[in-house]
Amino acid sequence: MTKTPAICVFCGASFGDKPIFSTAAVAMGAGIAGLGAKFIFGGGGPGLMGEAARGARDAGGTVEGILPGFLRDMEPPLDTGEDTEIVPDLFVRKREMIARSDAFVTLPGGLGTYDEFFEVLTAAQLGVHAKPIIVVNVDSYFDALDAMIRGTIARGFARDTVLEMYQMATGVDDALARLKAALRL
Ligand code: AMP
Repeated sequence: MTKTPAICVFCGASFGDKPIFSTAAVAMGAGIAGLGAKFIFGGGGPGLMGEAARGARDAGGTVEGILPGFLRDMEPPLDTGEDTEIVPDLFVRKREMIARSDAFVTLPGGLGTYDEFFEVLTAAQLGVHAKPIIVVNVDSYFDALDAMIRGTIARGFARDTVLEMYQMATGVDDALARLKAALRL
């Protein structure tokens, strides 16, 4: 890959119930910077989003946030000089995230994180893109998600080719190795 790759991270605006989630978010951000990739995220400072972005920034990475204007109060951006672009709504945010990124990483999060993960997975399912999607299964958080998708396939509501469209990483190191391989970094 000749141009600087961009990796989009989806994760919670909360911290979850264990410090391991924050540790993983910081390490993921730092690891993406270490790969020489741009770190793209939703632009908000709260929760794991802020941790991951700070991790990338503190490791010397380029951080780009895409924040819907109406979330500026609810999810204020980090006040640390990141490039934050204000977009009209959640839909433009997702469209921009998909267009600008070469790969997607899902760290533990809540319903917004699931929404973003399924947005990119269903777009892959429809052939809109073929970019790598990595799920970082910190503390086995995403076992249930993986089981749900496998159950959906078993019950005939999705094709088993979907399993080739996302990768379950056991942790941050595994996710970084998968990104490196997929993006040929
Ligand atoms: P959560 O995982 O619920 O903590 O949310 C993580 C991020 O997802 C936050 O920045 C939310 O603004 C964002 N988010 C929540 N709902 C949506 C949605 N429908 N589309 C796009 N992003 C969303």
